[in-house]
Amino acid sequence: MPSRLDCSERNSGGCMKLGLCKLCLREGLLQKSHIFPKSVAKPLRGAKGHLLEVHGRGRYGVEPRQDGLKEELLCTECEAFCNTNYEVPFRDTWKKLRPVEPWVPGTMIQAKVDYSTFKLFHLLNLFRAGISQLVELRGVQLGPHEAVLRRMILEGDPGETQQYAVAGLILFDKRDGSLMHFNGYPKRDIRDRRTSYSMIYLHTEWIVLISKGGADMVRRLALQQDGALMLIGHPWQEHPILAEMASRTVGKAELPPP
Ligand SMILES: [Zn+2]
Repeated sequence: MPSRLDCSERNSGGCMKLGLCKLCLREGLLQKSHIFPKSVAKPLRGAKGHLLEVHGRGRYGVEPRQDGLKEELLCTECEAFCNTNYEVPFRDTWKKLRPVEPWVPGTMIQAKVDYSTFKLFHLLNLFRAGISQLVELRGVQLGPHEAVLRRMILEGDPGETQQYAVAGLILFDKRDGSLMHFNGYPKRDIRDRRTSYSMIYLHTEWIVLISKGGADMVRRLALQQDGALMLIGHPWQEHPILAEMASRTVGKAELPPP
């Protein structure tokens, strides 16, 4: 019998502790899990295989991590629910449509996907970051949207196209078409005076529009309710947030000490 329920109680998901699950709102054993699922956020060939966390603070706005951020957030039942309903279906879909390297500028990915699972997968990642207590994610403040997203995830309700619209930009190097190989935790942005969050994984910046209205360019690229997905490429050199960091990742330059 384990004498403690924290890190002595293990299953395949790792450490667990008792607490309130912020998805089902029930008391239970919380499973330690990644903010972004491992299947999308495993380090590929970033600088020395590290994940880079984009936080926008300090001189460089990034710091390397050995592993993704982890925290006890959801109960084991909810973890299983999210894995079965969102993470596994998304991973299977992505395998079929992911961008190939080198990316050819001017091309795009067009596909029909399952609107509900594809969209809710990204909203789930944002929701996890929003309920996280980790200091690295304190910039993610969902406010009243947290409860709305929670319900949508639990009920499998993706809303209509423009409710929390999700769009993706494939980030590539305009010199040789190589794809961006790092992950960025959610960062709050203001586009056209409206709140949005951008997250980076799978060589793609995923943008979630929180506010209603505005950000017309992103809205036009949003995943459609009929499942129509359009991913266009965007050179990271022309990305306002990433330029400094990207030069240090793709160029294989030494990272500065955090
Ligand atoms: Zn739960």
